[in-house]
Amino acid sequence: MTTHTDQPAAVTVLGLGPMGRALAGAFLDAGLRTTVWNRTPGRDGDLAARGAAVAASAEEAVAASTLTVVCVVNYDASDAVLRQEPVAAALKGRTVVNLSADTPERARDTAEWAGRHGVRYLDGAIMTPTPAIGTDDAVFLYSGTEELYKEHRPVLAALGGSHTHLGEDAGRAAAYDVALLDIFWTAMAGYAHALAVARAEGVTGAELAPFAQGIAAILPPLFTEFAADTDAGTYSGELNPITSAVSTMAHVVHASEAHGIDASLMRVIEGQARRVVALGHGTDGYTRVADVITRR
Ligand code: NDP
Repeated sequence: MTTHTDQPAAVTVLGLGPMGRALAGAFLDAGLRTTVWNRTPGRDGDLAARGAAVAASAEEAVAASTLTVVCVVNYDASDAVLRQEPVAAALKGRTVVNLSADTPERARDTAEWAGRHGVRYLDGAIMTPTPAIGTDDAVFLYSGTEELYKEHRPVLAALGGSHTHLGEDAGRAAAYDVALLDIFWTAMAGYAHALAVARAEGVTGAELAPFAQGIAAILPPLFTEFAADTDAGTYSGELNPITSAVSTMAHVVHASEAHGIDASLMRVIEGQARRVVALGHGTDGYTRVADVITRR
């Protein structure tokens, strides 16, 4: 993208962990004037050689561009960078897109701080790993003022993939992020546990993996179906009532513990399903759990 002066647009990236470096690399690949800064110096990898300006301070970095993208470990870290003087003063009138991950509450708090300090603020979340950045597979979510999103969308497009504005509530991107991370980490925990149980039974990871992928392939249509059930509050268990599901959960617990493998995660899952049955919903489907765990 170029500006009206025919100069490439300028962007600053604060935070040069693996993700910050990937973002800065994608901006450079797109021909943008890219300035980078990281709390600990010397983490810019090959970015300087590829044309990035390495700023000596966060203040100098944000002064170099009208748009600053922040990508650090969490909002304690982004607060530590953005909310300190002289950086906060240097940001006045400029735009910050915070692509660090944290909770919806922290995102709203930062947006509120930005509003009070004259900083134009968009919150965001990255839903794909670093190798996807700059490719069609990258997924970015944003929330906050739509006009601001539209204004900076052409520069953000340099990061590749899909960009979705979810609404004006600054916490909305983080709300999607925590819900999606919930799926990711429980799935990863399930897979790590499955590999341990399989190994104890003499099944290698390589032997299990193709069948594990088969299990993963069952999930996308179930996600759609269960979402409709949960939205409507119907929880149909016609094809697989939770009384049947709970029995298969117990098999996993028993087989794991017979090998001395910690089955506490599956015990929690089984316990939640048994609560559904005890509350008289045994003929419902598994997603009735979403309802029962929400009750006080
Ligand atoms: P990290 O989450 O490990 O973040 C490292 C960065 O945070 C470094 O720049 C580090 O600086 C900085 N940092 C940590 N504490 C502070 C602090 N108190 N003050 C200033 N800077 C601080 O690595 P990633 O780059 O991978 O992730 C960045 C963000 O992107 C995270 O929120 C992560 O959840 C998100 N993300 C990452 C993905 C990935 O695949 N890596 C995928 C999707 C989202 P220093 O070098 O000085 O320690």
